[in-house]
Amino acid sequence: MIPYGRQDVTDADIAAVVAVLRSEFLTQGPEVPKFEAAVSAYCGSGYAVAVSNATAALHLACLALEVGRGDRVWTSPISFVASANCALYCGADIDFVDVEPESGNLSVSKLADKLRHARAAGTLPKVVIPVHLCGRPCDLVSIHALSREFGFRILEDASHAIGARYLDGPIGNCRYSDAAVFSFHPVKVMTTGEGGMFVTNDATLAARVVRTRNHGITRQPEEMTRPPDGPWYYQQIDLGYNYRMTDIQAALGSSQLTRLDAAIAHRNRLAERYDKLLAGLPLELPPRAMHQISAMHLYIVRLVSPSVIGAHRAIFESMREAGIGVNLHYIPIHLQPYYQQHGFSAATFPEAERFYSRAISLPMYPTLTEEEQDLVVRGLKNAILAHSR
Ligand SMILES: *Cc1c(COP(=O)(O)O)cnc(C)c1O
Repeated sequence: MIPYGRQDVTDADIAAVVAVLRSEFLTQGPEVPKFEAAVSAYCGSGYAVAVSNATAALHLACLALEVGRGDRVWTSPISFVASANCALYCGADIDFVDVEPESGNLSVSKLADKLRHARAAGTLPKVVIPVHLCGRPCDLVSIHALSREFGFRILEDASHAIGARYLDGPIGNCRYSDAAVFSFHPVKVMTTGEGGMFVTNDATLAARVVRTRNHGITRQPEEMTRPPDGPWYYQQIDLGYNYRMTDIQAALGSSQLTRLDAAIAHRNRLAERYDKLLAGLPLELPPRAMHQISAMHLYIVRLVSPSVIGAHRAIFESMREAGIGVNLHYIPIHLQPYYQQHGFSAATFPEAERFYSRAISLPMYPTLTEEEQDLVVRGLKNAILAHSR
């Protein structure tokens, strides 16, 4: 089976991990701060805080932004469930903003409409979480302008988007947001096995995340309620978690980061090749945008012509049977049973549901060969031929 996504682990990555295994520290040693410094240098953020996964990063980011009971958080329904669950972990209410039909990213015009209604109703959100779907940056300038007008904070779910560029800078520089998170799960753009990173330019937010990833404990005398009892002393001043990253993971991350730009360039070359090979089929291909570079985590095509719309499932099944691991990103979050039980009804976010009924993620990863890509294209052509009306 050709998978839809796959990690690329080299001998150099393995050597970096083995060196940590032979060293004194498996966790809380020098590798985590080294990886954090490398990521913040790479994406131009003031601070980077490594955590156990991006879900933990989203949770701690919401806590740092003081999301709690009675607050509202808005995100995109076309995302992984973690983008919404983080608000619920904090006791806040979650709501969604429908997406743009082409990119699947949160629609800025729908966001503006929803904000105007919310202002009239006194139900404005505290935090909006735009998701850079597939690694394609959202319209952050417009979202930032709305945040000034309506007074919400912006947390970028950049789980797909480390290595992406927006206007003149890398995603993660937080020029138009309060903070961003990256995921290093093996299917993502780069990996630490499991892992995540919180980035921000706000020293207060960074300090809160540093503390809450480690039980809410501080060893900084200036943060304590009284002078230390002695050199052993620490204080728990928040309720935190054990969301730490290990040195083993961080060493893998530092090694992977050195190849990130090459991997993204390769993903974009594969995408351009898909664009050429798929032209003329009854599909809409991923949209291109000016002034940005997608991290190209996913390559999503959409069945739009009436001849194939009803054949979504059949095309999926025949491609899987042909050994091509197509996937679907994403089942709209509000359609998940948990969310349905908590008050969301179907047909609330029509563009998200339309996206779901048409999208197919084709295999996209840096070690995908042109021969494999040709097999994917042939499989898709055959499936469309067999199932279109
Ligand atoms: C993968 C993913 C997450 C969660 O990342 P983990 O590191 O697996 O916790 C969150 N949001 C989006 C959009 C993702 O794709």
